[in-house]
Amino acid sequence: MRDHALAPYRRITIKIGSALLVDKTGKLRKAWLDALAQDIAGLKAEGRDIVVVSSGAIALGRGLLGLSALTLTLEQSQAAASAGQIALSQAWAEALGRHAIVTGQILITPNITEERRYYLNARTTIQTLLGLGAIPIINENDSVATAEIRYGDNDRLSARVATMIEADMLVLLSDIDGLYTAPPAKDPSATHIPVVERITPAIEAMAGGAASHLSRGGMTTKVEAGKIATLAGTAMIIAKGTETHPLKALTEGGLHTLFHPSTTRAQSRKRWIMGTLAVAGTVQVDAGAAGALKQGRSLLPIGITKIAGAFERGDTIAVTGPDGREIARGLSGLDSDDARLVMGKRSDVIVELLGAGNRAEMIHRDNLVLIGTKETVEL
Ligand code: GLU
Repeated sequence: MRDHALAPYRRITIKIGSALLVDKTGKLRKAWLDALAQDIAGLKAEGRDIVVVSSGAIALGRGLLGLSALTLTLEQSQAAASAGQIALSQAWAEALGRHAIVTGQILITPNITEERRYYLNARTTIQTLLGLGAIPIINENDSVATAEIRYGDNDRLSARVATMIEADMLVLLSDIDGLYTAPPAKDPSATHIPVVERITPAIEAMAGGAASHLSRGGMTTKVEAGKIATLAGTAMIIAKGTETHPLKALTEGGLHTLFHPSTTRAQSRKRWIMGTLAVAGTVQVDAGAAGALKQGRSLLPIGITKIAGAFERGDTIAVTGPDGREIARGLSGLDSDDARLVMGKRSDVIVELLGAGNRAEMIHRDNLVLIGTKETVEL
């Protein structure tokens, strides 16, 4: 198991397609799930954080509600998702529970991954679950999502989740062992691609439009997921999941396609910060704090002399020096009310004012970009 395909990664998001979890009659593939849970428990025991994005609610719900039509109406699939999600969570809780792993369910809609305030809350919940040794089980909230505001496929959803929690790896378990030069079902001469350095239009063209009997995605949404992941610094693997112990097979040398990240996660976050069109507020700092920032330290409230604007934790704010010129930009660790309460105060006093467990940084250095330095130029 040393030096296997997943060895370098510390935080792994694993996406499981409906066709793997649910058979054509709408029944859960229990033996398969049990074997997968064993693989997941093994990776977790090696010290990794694991987040699961599981499809299968609609497929299971169909079986439970006796909906046999080939294509369901929107209302029917939302009802199926509603009934199926309970069965799905239960299946995961049981399968991982056997390894003494607690699961937490999180149902997501696009506004949660796309709006920073929701995103920060969802991320905190996921991180807290991970910190407590649990495994978050995530799906789209299909029963309430409307046609306009839904992912519709868990490939892209899992990529957004992976980037949101800064996973270094996203594994898409699929019914195919990776990307081929053309969809193999249509073109028998297609060859397997083991590594994708960069997703070019030529790579996108290879994906074609194939989809299996249950999943909506096919290879197209997988390559889309690859774009989302790799642009944010997360590597991605597409591997075949149909056989039992799919992750064990992967770590034992199973065929797959690896998509390399096109940037580092830190750089991607900093680019995101610099890309903010309108900052939500401004904090002015004294010369001491300005100097500390230049040395790569975090911004602490003690160095703040003035605060302008109303902002939430996680909003992008500007930092100005004693002369009022912008010297940095970053994601605020505090909302503007708390910031006003603690500005100019020492960290130990802040803990008393805001309560233990609250961060004492105004902007953590990982979330801070200095303006007019080599660092900004490289972004
Ligand atoms: N969220 C859907 C479900 O749980 C699956 C979407 C997909 O197949 O990617 O049924």
